[in-house]
Amino acid sequence: MGRPLRVAIIGSGPSGFYAAEALLKQSVPPVSVDMFDRLPTPFGLVRGGVAPDHQKIKSVIAVYEKIAASPAFRFFGNVLVGKDVSTEDLRGLYDQVVYAVGNESDRRLGIPGEDLKGSHSATSFVGWYNAHPDFRKESFDLSVESAVVVGVGNVAMDVARVLAEDPERLKPTDIAEAALEALRHSRVRTVYLLGRRGPAQAAFSPAEIQEIGALESADLVVDPREAALDEASKKDYQDPKNKKNVDFLQERAKAGEGAKPRKVRLRFCVSPIEILGEGGRVRAVKIERNRLALGEDGRVRSEGTGIHETLPAGLVLRSVGYRGIPIPGVPFDEKSGHIPNASGRVLQAAGAAAARPGEYVVGWAKRGPTGLIGTNRADAIETVKLMAEDASSGRFCPASSPDPEAVTALLQKRGVRCVSYADWKRLDAIELARGKERGKARLKFDDVSRMLSALS
Ligand code: NAP
Repeated sequence: MGRPLRVAIIGSGPSGFYAAEALLKQSVPPVSVDMFDRLPTPFGLVRGGVAPDHQKIKSVIAVYEKIAASPAFRFFGNVLVGKDVSTEDLRGLYDQVVYAVGNESDRRLGIPGEDLKGSHSATSFVGWYNAHPDFRKESFDLSVESAVVVGVGNVAMDVARVLAEDPERLKPTDIAEAALEALRHSRVRTVYLLGRRGPAQAAFSPAEIQEIGALESADLVVDPREAALDEASKKDYQDPKNKKNVDFLQERAKAGEGAKPRKVRLRFCVSPIEILGEGGRVRAVKIERNRLALGEDGRVRSEGTGIHETLPAGLVLRSVGYRGIPIPGVPFDEKSGHIPNASGRVLQAAGAAAARPGEYVVGWAKRGPTGLIGTNRADAIETVKLMAEDASSGRFCPASSPDPEAVTALLQKRGVRCVSYADWKRLDAIELARGKERGKARLKFDDVSRMLSALS
């Protein structure tokens, strides 16, 4: 081709950066990468999703900074694909396009009362305490005694821990100031965590549940009957992760109620069937007890027993998984909530056999909201391998405007205020300095317009 292969990556979270890393390592053909993000700030869920008391996890950013330092890498922050540039524009400017857009929405429960005041997605609570601009205006009523978190994945662990933790321990982190202030005044004393299946099927990692067990501010309370292993769960118990969880919870159940000021009550084999309200606000959650049965696919599933219970609750956070949002001009599988693909090659439509030449997907947008940050690395390598194969066999439509300045000119013409990586490093320095002044790891900007005025 006589020039580097030009690749656009949409999204600057872990999957985008791991795709960039794999692409930039490639020498035949050499690649230049332009990464786009709708926010002026990079790093996706590492910045806006990882809990503030998990600063160590955020240190993975050092890896992404090394990738961004490559002379063949450029960052275009504050550019919304589908509005500021269309996917059609990108197909003209680049030889290959990679969607690394994650899953920006959440799954719903589909039960009555879900839209009452005081019922929220865990995603919005996480975005709020992480100073994500989309959620800065959210408010959560923490003047209530009892909160219910639906789901027992690691996101549920994060939100339950933030609710039950002593706020003074969150102060030195990069938690949003407004969230810290609200948590300081919180009257929440009980956090229920609801697992629809049993302890051997809990999605949380052993480290995450043990962290809740180690809180000084709260007791983790488990009913010994619910922590017991049933017949259907014996196979799941063989998995080392599940075994660790079950053994820990059974031990924990022996400790009883404890004497700490707050309680995290972990329940198993219960499903919410209705959120009950009063004056338009959440007041309780009606749950149904489940029994476990082995499905034909060998997976343990829950079945309602018809036995009901009501838990008092002034706040409900549903934490039952994330879901993708369609990008205009890109196929989307409504059923699975991600971009239909074959090992990372975007398909013409869900269920189609043919791929769209030159379009690829990585991360949660490719495989759904599963796995830890590092899972995205192997996944990105798989996609990039196919991209290299397609590039060398000519299975792509070469850019019609491959000049690297063409994109800058187009965005300028449209009046888009792009944020470069150097700009981001300036914002980063400001946030770190503001944090230092207040004894925090960082004081984040939570508003795009303030970020842009800080840069000008
Ligand atoms: P997740 O791990 O898939 O957990 C979702 C939970 O919701 C499961 O307990 C699931 O139960 C439950 N659920 C789904 N539909 C439900 C329904 N209709 N009613 C009741 N419960 C329902 O998802 P996540 O917690 O959002 O986490 C997403 C990914 O990010 C995971 O891979 C997670 O490990 C990762 N993550 C990691 C960390 C960390 O390492 N610190 C932190 C946050 C997130 P079933 O199992 O029965 O379906």
